[in-house]
Amino acid sequence: MDPVIERYAQIATPRYTSYPTAPHFQTGFDPETYRGWLGALDPAEPLSLYLHVPFCRQMCWYCGCNMKLVKREGPLKDYVETLLSEIALVRDALPGRLRVAHLHWGGGTPTALAPDDLARVTAALETAFDILPDAERAIESDPRTLTDAMVARLADLGFNRASFGVQEFDPEVQRTINRIQPPEMVAEAVGAFRRHGIDAINFDLIYGLPHQTTEKLLRTIDLAAEMAPDRIALFGYAHVPWVAKNQRMIPEDALPDARARADQAAAAAEAVVAAGYRAIGLDHFALPGDGLARAARAGRLHRNFQGYTDDPAATMIGLGATSIGRAPQGFVQNLAETGAWARAVAAGTLPVAKGRAISLDDALRGAVIERIMCDGRADPDAIGRGFGAAPGWWRAAREQLAPMAADGLVEVGAHGVALTDRGRPLARLAAAAFDAYLDTGAARHSVAL
Ligand code: SF4
Repeated sequence: MDPVIERYAQIATPRYTSYPTAPHFQTGFDPETYRGWLGALDPAEPLSLYLHVPFCRQMCWYCGCNMKLVKREGPLKDYVETLLSEIALVRDALPGRLRVAHLHWGGGTPTALAPDDLARVTAALETAFDILPDAERAIESDPRTLTDAMVARLADLGFNRASFGVQEFDPEVQRTINRIQPPEMVAEAVGAFRRHGIDAINFDLIYGLPHQTTEKLLRTIDLAAEMAPDRIALFGYAHVPWVAKNQRMIPEDALPDARARADQAAAAAEAVVAAGYRAIGLDHFALPGDGLARAARAGRLHRNFQGYTDDPAATMIGLGATSIGRAPQGFVQNLAETGAWARAVAAGTLPVAKGRAISLDDALRGAVIERIMCDGRADPDAIGRGFGAAPGWWRAAREQLAPMAADGLVEVGAHGVALTDRGRPLARLAAAAFDAYLDTGAARHSVAL
């Protein structure tokens, strides 16, 4: 491994799926402020919807999501009833029946819901919103519990993209992370979606898992490439057992060290590209004809809570416990505990736990950070002009980037900041130079690579 990269790879850094990042959202945020934001949305602008279903049938030890194990149907039914009420609450706060271009169901495992319940929520969404005929309707799915009947229903409901957490195919790794899903099982699930006309398929893969080696990961990529998903996301396992208690089941002595992680990341990225995918941003890959690859070529890539996206919407309405939403004025996050979320909805309150109005300075820094994360480069002076910022406003960031520049990882000059090929994996660190909140100690982050 490049010894210079190795030195930087251990530095804890946010993933910058928003700016300010979620640990800087404020508790006690007034739901009426959010109601005001929703009421002020521009009816001419399409928005995005995110629905969170925080239930799974089995716990993966590496999981960092907000989820609950569910063995009975009762909690799922209750959840759906509250989701329907929340949709009605949001609808009443909006200035009309707004258009939706992207709809994403995440979790947890959204396909843990009964097909009829998915249909009821879809019908409520279609009443409350004008979901555009060419809208992307995506859902995260678990091949271990998926049935052909569910896939058929998803196709009937208009879903056109499905995501799978594949992670790693090696049996020893799968046993250690408590997620057993042989390649044949994943291939069968992918085949079911395609048979029913849902052709757009995403795979998530993870490096840095316990007992994982570069060789195992490359074998996983070979198997994954044979199934030809349109998009592959390749994430580093973030070991944060102080946040995700289930990660205490991960044997720390089986985790690859920083050098092995970096080797895995580099070898995997090379292998995915060799299999015909275009590298997108920091950790995504897409077949050349996919919308994400087209957006990247055109400089229209964006970053939101799901990672890289071609979705340009300035507003994402989050529905469900713990979901994060974004309006032009700021961010909100729903209550994470399903009981508290349901009680707030039953009381007729938008179930917001945290939020953050964004200042002009936040918006400016966020725009620079998004370009660095998406394009590997940004011109802070050019971006600053749109915000009325004085030339050179980013002097502190420039100074902070000096060591990376001296190490040949980033170029800082008249046209702003550009990561070099060598420094590209460290985009999060370059973005962090523009983060005005990083030293306030509100959060611990995973390592930069
Ligand atoms: S990783 Fe996904 S499937 Fe596994 S427990 Fe977490 S949310 Fe559920």
